[in-house]
Amino acid sequence: MPPTGRYAPSPTGSLHLGNLRTALLAWASARHAGGRFLLRVDDLDPQRSRPHWVTEQLADLRAIGIDWDGDPVHQSDRFDRYAAAIDVLAERGATYECFCTRAEIREAASAPHGELPDGAYPGTCRELTERERAERRASGRPAALRVRAGAERISFRDEVAGTSAGIVDDFVVRRNDGVPAYNLATTVDDAELGVTEVVRGADLLGSVSRQIWLARALGIAMPERWAHVPLVLGGDGERLAKRHGAVALADLAQQGVGPAEVTRGLVAGLEADPGDDPSAGLLARFTPALLRVEAAPLAQGGDPAAQGQ
Ligand code: GLU
Repeated sequence: MPPTGRYAPSPTGSLHLGNLRTALLAWASARHAGGRFLLRVDDLDPQRSRPHWVTEQLADLRAIGIDWDGDPVHQSDRFDRYAAAIDVLAERGATYECFCTRAEIREAASAPHGELPDGAYPGTCRELTERERAERRASGRPAALRVRAGAERISFRDEVAGTSAGIVDDFVVRRNDGVPAYNLATTVDDAELGVTEVVRGADLLGSVSRQIWLARALGIAMPERWAHVPLVLGGDGERLAKRHGAVALADLAQQGVGPAEVTRGLVAGLEADPGDDPSAGLLARFTPALLRVEAAPLAQGGDPAAQGQ
């Protein structure tokens, strides 16, 4: 069966060169194998997502030669699907209400908690009695919903990181403002859209064990292949961001660097000779080894053509 891949940007700002590089790899990986490629708009967060970023992001992806099957899928249209999944978890006794504030979690999480990694939720609200819960509800504190994961250790294979494992803490599936959480939404979507391979940035490697845990708890399909590709860093070694200068197509265009040249720079960073039509060449010559190529840090001054040098 040919794979189904996807790219899932959050419309909270412009896509930067690192996002575009990841998108090219995700697209080339699925399409080279004759697979489907889907575009998902991760606009879960009504406070931070803006329609004009969706428009710009889709235009930028097209401008660097990426195409996708069907219309983009918007997470904001799928809240009923996430609510149904949360109901399934709740019916199975796999969730509990959490009334902790951010500050309380930070404080509690800073103490060592056996196997749990630093920053993991230590389970403060897990064993509240029904009475304690009623009291907290009555005090007007809105509750988030967490899963009872019981610090389960889940291992998986990532094409870039190799054999990896994560201890799953009691993570949030519904925020205390009622918005479904990223891990819940992405797991439901990947299953319902038939996604078989996830190629995305290395910053999300730590989410895989939670997503596998959820897919198992819900009894739904999960991706067969994971590849968390290297991130582009700024010249200072930090994750790429606006402060690094011209890192988005719109800024670069103002400096006279068009999308074709940006694509050429990105593809040249992956293979020696990007040819005349870099995205088509990448597609034709794609091999999984390209997923492991380290991304050159952005040269000071932000010249994207230097990506390939
Ligand atoms: N929307 C997420 C992001 O932009 C990516 C989600 C995913 O690929 O699973 O970081």
